[in-house]
Amino acid sequence: MTPSTTFAGQSVALFGLGGSGLATALSLTAGGAHVVACDDNPARMEAARERGIATGDLRRAEWGGFAALVLAPGVPLTHPVPHWTVDLAEAAGVPVIGDIELFCRERAATSPDAPFVAITGTNGKSTTTALIAHVLTAVGRDVQMGGNIGTAILSLAPPSPDRVHVIELSSFQIDLTPSLAPTIGVLLNLTPDHLDRHGDMTRYAAIKERLVTGAAHAVVGVDDEYCRAIAGRRQGPITRIHVGEAGEGPGILARNGIVIDGRREPAEPVADLAGIGSLRGAHNWQNAAIAYVVARELGVTPDAFAAALASFPGLPHRMEEVGRRGSVLFINDSKATNADSTEKALSAFQRVHWILGGKPKEGGIASLAPYFPRIAHAYLIGAASDDFAATLDGHVPFSRCGTLSAAVVEAAAAAEADASGEPVVLLSPACASYDQFRSFEDRGDQFRDLVRALPGLRPPGA
Ligand code: ADP
Repeated sequence: MTPSTTFAGQSVALFGLGGSGLATALSLTAGGAHVVACDDNPARMEAARERGIATGDLRRAEWGGFAALVLAPGVPLTHPVPHWTVDLAEAAGVPVIGDIELFCRERAATSPDAPFVAITGTNGKSTTTALIAHVLTAVGRDVQMGGNIGTAILSLAPPSPDRVHVIELSSFQIDLTPSLAPTIGVLLNLTPDHLDRHGDMTRYAAIKERLVTGAAHAVVGVDDEYCRAIAGRRQGPITRIHVGEAGEGPGILARNGIVIDGRREPAEPVADLAGIGSLRGAHNWQNAAIAYVVARELGVTPDAFAAALASFPGLPHRMEEVGRRGSVLFINDSKATNADSTEKALSAFQRVHWILGGKPKEGGIASLAPYFPRIAHAYLIGAASDDFAATLDGHVPFSRCGTLSAAVVEAAAAAEADASGEPVVLLSPACASYDQFRSFEDRGDQFRDLVRALPGLRPPGA
């Protein structure tokens, strides 16, 4: 745990005791602050009290006595409307911050030279964060990974010069971190997302830009117009990452799955992603190129980077290889809850037995039509079945399977009988999971279990 000592002796209001909230309350309390913690859910209040956290009703609190309101990132700060605690804090002139801000203040006060890598972007945050942490761990560094992925930041070991914090940040977390100043700040990409919570794209991009502005060294993927504009405005050290062709100035290029360091003379390939099962698909070229730059900045040699990349296990539910049966490959891409993400998966394979459906998103799968020639057969599950059947009709053969288990059985049998090269059974639903599952993780876990139960299945590496 990282005790948060910068509020020692002061009173701090805290709202939101799910996820990182409890860790934050424990860290503040350990650091000597007087916490008044609150949540709409009485069970969470009770759980906090059991851990020794002081709870209270913030509606009735004397707000003038608080040095800060620490808000959980899931609680609305601005949109659609500010949470009532935010209104009360603002009326009393109390700053509203989050747990990442507490970490940043602690680092500034106790260990300002501690390496701190912060990663954000619309897509690829978790993969890139995990990849950077994997590479640094593989070369023997003391790595603490967390934030928006896995462990809450204040549950990690404290910042220290010989320990690297590799932290994924959502826009909500950045919004609550006014003094964000990482050693290396990574911005992967920007596309419209979460606009209901940020107002509009301009505001969303401005929040993400703060990570770039505050970083000692910025690493920016410049394949979209928003990120290009942000890179153009950046004052101070920056490395630009291009996927495809090089843009202006020497940068890092990921072309055809090969990471090329354009800063070296001559520009040299440093890693080839072909054959690395955990980094399939063109979207991972950007993630790998960014991990390379961060690793180099932290002193990892190109050879050590390339070796570590090859042993990256990947993250569950994102193009996760579940196993093979005969020539058939089974892939769990349950994290793909919209057509954009599913497009990344479809583009990585030539012959696909595609399991899709669930709770549909606006726009459906019409945008995926260019990939329909790659689909040997589609297996529909869940509430989107009628919509998707209408889109596929006349273009792709499909079955209405209803459930995931029926879809796995039918797809496995059909793929086995498919004589073409390497058929893939791909779960990439292009839908939310909530009609049939608790979460996309639950959906992916069930898929993995169903596939592993198939007779003759060989897990990866076997
Ligand atoms: P995040 O943490 O930002 O949600 P993940 O690493 O979990 O991102 O990846 C989620 C999905 O986003 C992947 O399944 C893939 O479809 C897509 N994706 C991953 N990396 C990128 C990238 N660099 N550019 C665009 N899309 C990506």
